[in-house]
Amino acid sequence: MKNNRSDFPIFSHSISRKPLYYCDNASTTHKPQQMLDALYAFYATYNSNVHRGVHAFGETTTEHYEHARTSVANFINADSSEIIFTSGCTESINAVATSWGRTVLRPGDEVVVSQLEHHSNFLPWQQLIHTNGIVLRSIPVLPDGTLDMAVAHSLITSKTKLLAITHVSNAIGTHVDLMPLITQAHAVGARVLVDVAQSIAHQRIDVQALDADFLAFSGHKLCGPTGIGVLFIKKELHEVMPPYKYGGGMVFEVGQVDATWLQAPQKFEAGTPPIAQAIGLGAAITYLLEHINFDELQQYEARLCARLIDGLHELQGVRILGPLDALKKNGHLVSFVLDRIHAHDVAAYLGQRNIVVRAGHHCAQPLAQALGYDASVRASFYFYNTIEDVDALLEALRELIQAI
Ligand code: PMP
Repeated sequence: MKNNRSDFPIFSHSISRKPLYYCDNASTTHKPQQMLDALYAFYATYNSNVHRGVHAFGETTTEHYEHARTSVANFINADSSEIIFTSGCTESINAVATSWGRTVLRPGDEVVVSQLEHHSNFLPWQQLIHTNGIVLRSIPVLPDGTLDMAVAHSLITSKTKLLAITHVSNAIGTHVDLMPLITQAHAVGARVLVDVAQSIAHQRIDVQALDADFLAFSGHKLCGPTGIGVLFIKKELHEVMPPYKYGGGMVFEVGQVDATWLQAPQKFEAGTPPIAQAIGLGAAITYLLEHINFDELQQYEARLCARLIDGLHELQGVRILGPLDALKKNGHLVSFVLDRIHAHDVAAYLGQRNIVVRAGHHCAQPLAQALGYDASVRASFYFYNTIEDVDALLEALRELIQAI
């Protein structure tokens, strides 16, 4: 697979001019020149606010902003009105919990999550225990880091009002088999939110095929800028959901004590939106569609994972987390723990060699508790990674372990 590294300025500006072994793509991805050019063109040539000015600049900006919305909609097979721009995946999920959750959920209603969730798909629902009296159920993980599907099926009942589930775990890379869970949730009348923060950059996502009611992700994990997120809300839910923030750009009419709202998406986008970031995300999606074959990408990343897993197996005192056979087929990240060296020390040591990995609980403490580790080292790949990145990482680990 072509690695397209020459499109990414960061690789020619790496720290101290040393090669950069960037293996932290689950945190954020690098930015291609084409995306940076789109940001520059906005600020340098037509910068203005959206939906307001009747001047030509305002119209151009609005056209680009709405074009970005259409690009996102096409990318996930949604309608443009179903795409809400937020500041990130975290805000997208919080928006659903605040607007839909607080309005619709009653004491005793159940929300089902899983032990794989990132905190941003756990804490907003946990808060509803206190505000709405809901019951939060969590699908447990098995020791290999997959979900216990038998328990999952027993947790989704007529009391379930929402299944809020990750597609791919950011901490250990597990892919969740979504369809049986979504089908069951819909059969009991529940809504479904899918957190695709970790899958959207690595495989094609189709909201209609998934039949998700809500879908959330961040732009910065797929070559877009920070500060932009996407919330897909199925059209049939637009009426029942009140705005989750209030201000300019979203009202139809304002009276002394009440107001009426524009239709979605404006209803959910009070205030000046992240205009440059949305345009940047649109450009990032265009870049990916023009340069990346997603089927090849998944196989390529899995090969990098397989090489890393096999290499780690040869080292002393390394526990690799997650479903290893599956990661070798479809993974983009590998998480591991060294017996005698804390994950933070490992990451710091690697960092000195310009090998960038992430260490910690990866904002998934319930998972770390369930699997019995407090911090892991995580290497995560994208199309611009190469076998040299994996080998540099393995070589550095080998030396570190020998030195201890
Ligand atoms: N969900 C998952 C699975 C994630 O990996 C992340 C980011 N690590 C988030 C949600 C939150 O994304 P953000 O911090 O960009 O809002």
